[in-house]
Amino acid sequence: MSRYRSSRYSRYDRYSFFPPRKSKGERIADADKKIKALAKKGVKLSPVTLEGSKIAKTFWGKAWCDNIESYRDYAYRLERGRSYVRSNSIIDLVIGAGTINAQVMGSALYKVAVTVKPVPAAHWKTIRKVCAGKIGSLIELLRGHISEEVMAVMTAHKTGLFPSPSEIAFTCSCPDSATMCKHVAAAMYGIGHRLDTHPELLFLLRGVDTADLIASATTAPFTDGQPAGGETLAAEELADVFGVELDDTPAAAAPAVKRPRGRPRKAQAPAQAAPPAKRPRGRPRKAQEPAQAAPPAKRPRGRPKKG
Ligand SMILES: [Zn+2]
Repeated sequence: MSRYRSSRYSRYDRYSFFPPRKSKGERIADADKKIKALAKKGVKLSPVTLEGSKIAKTFWGKAWCDNIESYRDYAYRLERGRSYVRSNSIIDLVIGAGTINAQVMGSALYKVAVTVKPVPAAHWKTIRKVCAGKIGSLIELLRGHISEEVMAVMTAHKTGLFPSPSEIAFTCSCPDSATMCKHVAAAMYGIGHRLDTHPELLFLLRGVDTADLIASATTAPFTDGQPAGGETLAAEELADVFGVELDDTPAAAAPAVKRPRGRPRKAQAPAQAAPPAKRPRGRPRKAQEPAQAAPPAKRPRGRPKKG
């Protein structure tokens, strides 16, 4: 493990294939250059771009990060990825069914591949059972507006939706990939960040279907302004919903705020008299509330404005 440190040679002397280390500033510049160069070639990238230092802000994103940080195996290795993700070194991250592919700018551009096993059928069955009748709608689920009981079963170690180390495998094209290198660690955090705006990808990643969950969880037909059939929302629509809600600018919250069904809320929804801000396309939205963490509920930012 400490084979590098115990040596009187630096790792670069012994392993000349290690490119020279780059400063954070150099990495940021390199990542930016690479994104532009690839864009010129028509390559479509999904970079992980943080605004501020918080990697994840919503229930799903935070729960992902909490989960990976909760395993001792990962703890100190993950640390190395945090500064990478914060310096926007992930120029591309794509979450698919059981896979995550990322390109991370380090001393060079490295390719990271992570595979995640699907949720075992028995675990999914338990999750569905616990959730039965307790999730108001897909939107509420994806917003993390779920009861503590539902939250507990979703986030349970080893039996919930979030994978444990034994269900995760990864590789990186860097020379340091024997263990979790900083590029993989960065990608792990990048997933958390991506789940903030695309929580539905967690379900895709784990091979389970939200529709399946909602169908078994709701007693009434799915008619709350959702598409017929209710299974899926168009990606664009989700982006709308989450783009508006997660903007982190309270003023961007939808003006007409209706309380969701279900559990009573302690804090009153801030009646933000948002300027007729960027109305989402499509049908009027009901059952929406400003971005707010699900219980343990934080107080909404700011105060209700009067006019
Ligand atoms: Zn690596």
